[in-house]
Amino acid sequence: MKHFVIVLAVGILLVFGCRKEEPKTLPEKHEAIAQKEEPKTGAMLIAEGKEKLTEAKKKLAQEDKYDCCIEDDCDYCALHEGSCSCASDLKKGDHVCLECYAGWQQGKGDVPNIKKENVTTSLLKHEHHH
Ligand SMILES: [Zn+2]
Repeated sequence: MKHFVIVLAVGILLVFGCRKEEPKTLPEKHEAIAQKEEPKTGAMLIAEGKEKLTEAKKKLAQEDKYDCCIEDDCDYCALHEGSCSCASDLKKGDHVCLECYAGWQQGKGDVPNIKKENVTTSLLKHEHHH
């Protein structure tokens, strides 16, 4: 008799367990519907994008993949290359990215012993690969 009760209890648990799975998908659908009702504006998407970009640059810096040469690390290299080597390129006398070049001309350069007159850029895309 005790066994029967246990089997019954397990059976009930299984039924509940299975039922629990089903409603899980429902709230997600609900969210999707809610998103459709309120389409994000361009400004909202940009705000989200900026947040993600900042997060990405922080991660890249932690991974030693963001070695930028201006005060607020450039967005250009993050968006175009997924990493930044502007500071080491600059020290080697190589071109920096367009944004870093503009940053230097605006006085935002952040590498010691470099003058803005020494900073160069290239208007050609991906010149290193050609
Ligand atoms: Zn750069």
